[in-house]
Amino acid sequence: MSLEQELTRINVMQPWLGEEEVAAVSEVLRSGWVAQGPRVAAFEAAFAQAQQAEHAIAVSNCTTALHLALVVAGVGAGDEVVVPSLSFIATANAPTYVGATPVFADVDEATGNLTPATIATVVTPRTRAVIAVDQGGVPLDMQAIRAFCDPLGITVIEDAACAAGSTAHGRPVGAGAEIAAWSFHPRKLLTTGEGGMVTTSRADWAARARRLREHSMSVSAADRHASVLASPETFDEVGFNFRMTDLQAAVGIVQLGRLPEMVARRRELATAYAFAIAQLSGLRMVADPAWGTTNFQSCWVEVLPEHPLDREEMMMHLAGAGISARRGIMASHRQPAHSHRDHVALPVTERLNDQTLILPLFHQMTGAEHERVVDALESAWRP
Ligand SMILES: *Cc1c(COP(=O)(O)O)cnc(C)c1O
Repeated sequence: MSLEQELTRINVMQPWLGEEEVAAVSEVLRSGWVAQGPRVAAFEAAFAQAQQAEHAIAVSNCTTALHLALVVAGVGAGDEVVVPSLSFIATANAPTYVGATPVFADVDEATGNLTPATIATVVTPRTRAVIAVDQGGVPLDMQAIRAFCDPLGITVIEDAACAAGSTAHGRPVGAGAEIAAWSFHPRKLLTTGEGGMVTTSRADWAARARRLREHSMSVSAADRHASVLASPETFDEVGFNFRMTDLQAAVGIVQLGRLPEMVARRRELATAYAFAIAQLSGLRMVADPAWGTTNFQSCWVEVLPEHPLDREEMMMHLAGAGISARRGIMASHRQPAHSHRDHVALPVTERLNDQTLILPLFHQMTGAEHERVVDALESAWRP
């Protein structure tokens, strides 16, 4: 290994953007229509088709998508919403935007996701909804969760922020959900800079979400702009400005076309990591569950107690080789914003939060970069 290689930093994630995205944005700029318009509509149609969703509504990010999903599902003040603490904080924050209370449930150690069993321990008569996350892209078992929640009248919202390109029960994730929320932040696979989507099987929820994202206007800004003599609009309820721009949607359309290739490359690199890690002691890597495939948005590894290094020491060891790993998924109940809330014991959440780290994995990663990460994991401990 040359000194130069050694000094080049390997990042945990890098978006894969190219000249097609540049051309798409230029075309939008030249068209003069930069806010929500025809490209947003085209991106919604393409995304709905790719995810096998009946309806898709583009929004400004996944946090606003979750907020909108809770509103159209009728969740409000006094309601409880079951969420995993082991998730990016937006999952726990969203219920508070509608006056509801997030209630933390533990997760399964293999997937990092909620299960019917972990949800069951925190359900009360006030439970109105569950936000179930496909954590790090690992598909949750929506069939099992809905089999538990539907008879209780509990709405399941799928937080598929990380999971574009993952599959469950032979279909794209989200296809089995009544409503799902997606993110196009650069930390995910498909990116529009910032951006999000709501997908839903319900026409009534889709229509309301579409109005609510632009102030509950009866006439969309795009329709108003398209007509010479615009009809007067009405505002039927208090809405939001959660719009995506045509600039973002143009990038999204190109990125959606790249998604299968991105997933294939990530799975190839992750398989090579899994092979190397299987030869090492004291490390456990995330894997596909029985009912689906992950896009490896986060390729996490647990540093087990038998390993002489703990997670922090392993991160330092990797940093010494110029490798920028990240701590594993956060735990919201440990953050000041939510630490005041009562919660059940969350032993698996705390263990994964303390012992996991995320390995560098991105589309353009070279074989040499991948080898450097594997070498560093190997040199950490040879029993
Ligand atoms: C990234 C992420 C979000 C937030 O997405 P934004 O588009 O940044 O608002 C929500 N939930 C999960 C699980 C995430 O990973």
